[in-house]
Amino acid sequence: MNIVLMGLPGAGKGTQADKIVEKYAIPHISTGDMFRAAIKEGTELGLQAKSFIDQGALVPDEVTIGIVRERLAKPDCEKGFLLDGFPRTVPQAEALDSILADLDKAIEHTLNIQVEKDELIARLSGRRICKTCGTSYHLIFNPPTVEGKCDKDGGELYTRADDNPETVANRLEVNMKQAQPLLDFYEAKGVLTNIDGQQDINKVFADLDALLQGSRS
Ligand code: ADP
Ligand code: ADP
Repeated sequence: MNIVLMGLPGAGKGTQADKIVEKYAIPHISTGDMFRAAIKEGTELGLQAKSFIDQGALVPDEVTIGIVRERLAKPDCEKGFLLDGFPRTVPQAEALDSILADLDKAIEHTLNIQVEKDELIARLSGRRICKTCGTSYHLIFNPPTVEGKCDKDGGELYTRADDNPETVANRLEVNMKQAQPLLDFYEAKGVLTNIDGQQDINKVFADLDALLQGSRS
């Protein structure tokens, strides 16, 4: 199953992606996770991406498209994949079409998780991430069983550097500007499915899962 998961920062992409990839056994391809891993490792890609991410800006399309092209060509994507946080711009969406055409693949689901701005701000400002596995928690909406520790592996939870209030405001503005033309692009192709993201985490997953199940024969 080839899936694209879209939504503004804080919409719940990472949270839902974890559940989908577990159930459908496909790789989770998050450009944000790839950039954060590269920054941690101090690679050339990390150096290129860091200043943009720190400001809440988008990493330039050429860089982002390049890493996705390489990743989708890996053998584990043969059984399907879930793209989380890519594409975020129309040029990225056009590039994705051409990358997939070259690989003789196509997207089966373009899912957009919809959440209002005030809720996004509340989610991002209380988000905590596991240092080891990257799982997202929320201080109030989705707290871990033991404060400050990941339920899955006991890893320490931290606040992402770009989840501070100033960066969040810019990130939302930048992403909202890019989101509408991107949604229009997929709407025009007749492939876009909107999901109500402002529900309980398990209810959002049930809605996503029903859509994915519907396409299984
Ligand atoms: P994204 O990957 O889209 O930026 P995350 O999955 O990291 O979003 O979720 C953002 C924050 O909101 C996290 O703190 C997460 O625990 C919380 N969250 C995710 N889904 C919901 C939901 N349906 N209701 C309330 N909080 C949620
Ligand atoms: P969120 O959805 O909460 O913004 P991500 O982890 O997906 O978080 O992304 C973190 C940052 O990585 C973004 O603010 C942006 O700087 C960069 N990034 C991730 N995906 C893309 C993309 N497709 N295009 C450009 N920049 C990206």
